[in-house]
Order: sequence, then structure tokens, then C-alpha cells
Amino acid sequence: MSREITPSARRVLELLRAADRPVKAYDLMRQLEDGRLAKPPTVYRALNQLMTLGLAHKVYTLDAFTACASPDEPHYPLLRVCPNCRRTSELLVTGEDLQRLLPGGDFFTSLAVLELTGVCEDCS
Ligand SMILES: [Zn+2]
Ligand SMILES: [Zn+2]
Repeated sequence: MSREITPSARRVLELLRAADRPVKAYDLMRQLEDGRLAKPPTVYRALNQLMTLGLAHKVYTLDAFTACASPDEPHYPLLRVCPNCRRTSELLVTGEDLQRLLPGGDFFTSLAVLELTGVCEDCS
């Protein structure tokens, strides 16, 4: 798979990797271009490209985005979300893992949103 990404997507990926917790799209708009608010389509296009390539994931629970922890391994992300500090940690779910949960082959997964909400070690 080609990992060619646009300059905006590269910059968004840098911002996500530098953050210690998921970042909201609006905060990416503010950080993307120095001092100017980036246009929403620019940020969403960049995010979509990163997610399509498996370089970033959406954190639905927080309505925010995070860099993938293991972009070179094929997986569905299982995200553990602490609502207290808003940090997440990612575990990798493989296609085989999913098949064990979904026997029968009568359903073809295209998107898996796997998120657990709970208290992280720092907040417990
Ligand atoms: Zn991942
Ligand atoms: Zn926490």
C-alpha cells in the first residue's frame, strides 16, 4: 500500500503523534497552519487519508483522533479510553480475533469500532 500522503496529512500526523492524548478536529484546524485557522475540508481530508492508510484512528467516544500505535501491523484498533484524563491506549485486534467472535461468515465487517471506557492506571 502506498504511504504517499499530502503535506497537510503529514503535518496532521505529526500533530497527532506529538499529542499525548486524542486531538479534536477543531484543535487540529487551529494548530495546522501557524496563526491561521485551517479550513475544515483541509483537516478532514487529511484525517480521512491518514485513517484510510491506517496511520490514525478516530476515537468515537471522545469525538477525536489519535495516531495509530502500530501502523505496520494489519489490525482493527481496540481503544481503551479514560474519560478522566482523556488518554487512550491501543490494543490490536486481528481479523482472526474478530472471526472467533463472529462465526458463521454471514457478516462481512468493513468497519469495527472497538472502544472500552474505563479508568487508566494514572487516574485510579
Ligand atoms: Zn492502530
Ligand atoms: Zn486517566
